[in-house]
Amino acid sequence: MAALALGGSIGGKVQAEVVEVDTWEQLDQLGEAGKLKGKIAFYNRPMDATKIRTFEAYGGCVDQRVGGASRASKYGAVAVLVRSMTLRLDDFPHTGTMHYDSAYSLIPAAAISTIAAEALSQILREEGSAKVSIQLNCKTLPDVLSYNVIGEIRGREKPNDIILVGGHLDSWDVGHGAHDDGAGVVQSMDVLRLLKTLGYRPRHTIRCVLFMNEENGLRGGKAYAKEAERKGEFPLASIESDAGGFTPRGFSFEGDEAVFGKFFEKLTTFESHFTPYDLKFRKGGSGADISPLRGMKGLLSGYSPDSQRYFDYHHAESDTFDKVNKRELELGTASMAALVYLIDKYGL
Ligand SMILES: [Zn+2]
Repeated sequence: MAALALGGSIGGKVQAEVVEVDTWEQLDQLGEAGKLKGKIAFYNRPMDATKIRTFEAYGGCVDQRVGGASRASKYGAVAVLVRSMTLRLDDFPHTGTMHYDSAYSLIPAAAISTIAAEALSQILREEGSAKVSIQLNCKTLPDVLSYNVIGEIRGREKPNDIILVGGHLDSWDVGHGAHDDGAGVVQSMDVLRLLKTLGYRPRHTIRCVLFMNEENGLRGGKAYAKEAERKGEFPLASIESDAGGFTPRGFSFEGDEAVFGKFFEKLTTFESHFTPYDLKFRKGGSGADISPLRGMKGLLSGYSPDSQRYFDYHHAESDTFDKVNKRELELGTASMAALVYLIDKYGL
């Protein structure tokens, strides 16, 4: 089976019977009946293909990956296998973060490809049982010091009011992390390059932040927010690109209701600037790295490209540079630059 350890899993060697689990109710029923003791729990709830926005489908099943190990360990399971979070049927396992509940013993946890998950499920249906051997060599090493990378064009009127564009530098160790989040990193740097090339002198400071360690605990995002607070900066608007380098669809916005209401009204007068891009604006979550800025009452925005292919590559070996379409990436950069320009010029 094509398999990949989950981020944070302990290593280990296990051979045991597999029990398929599709819902938490089923897990509890099986567990309370003693049927998970000494077994490998196999979480096989797929992403819901009826959700048009794939991030909603991801949100609907990622709980299996994040919390599945300890929830199964509670009932005596010895390891877990998790169906990869993708709508594609292929042979790439997709990893991602997981957390242990220290109340239960730590057990190895791995993702398997959707093809492997379908095959394993079929064997269980047809044969009634299956035994699997797992050997994970992963380990968590001690933390080392690393850094966010920051560049800015200083504002000429309100240098302490920051318009941030950002993405994250780290990625999972398989693939290149091209869409997650090489694309966001390139776009964020390119927004500043575009404005600089135009000779634009901003009113507010326009800052590119390449966050470190989004995937494994949001350290860079948290450290950035702490520093911003310490320096007494105001995060006027923060725009994160961490949903892939695909064709732009729009932006989602969250923020203080007073700021937000006014800004949204203004956005409708801006709409003609975005007409060639066919962009839509909506209320909704922004991004992980800028979420620690929430308490500082600025506007937070997430760049929302087309989401249909993001989870084809997300956290998998297939997330490589050749999967990024240059033109789609540049259209996204241009729409981010347009938003930054309008906020800088007209405020919120
Ligand atoms: Zn990411």
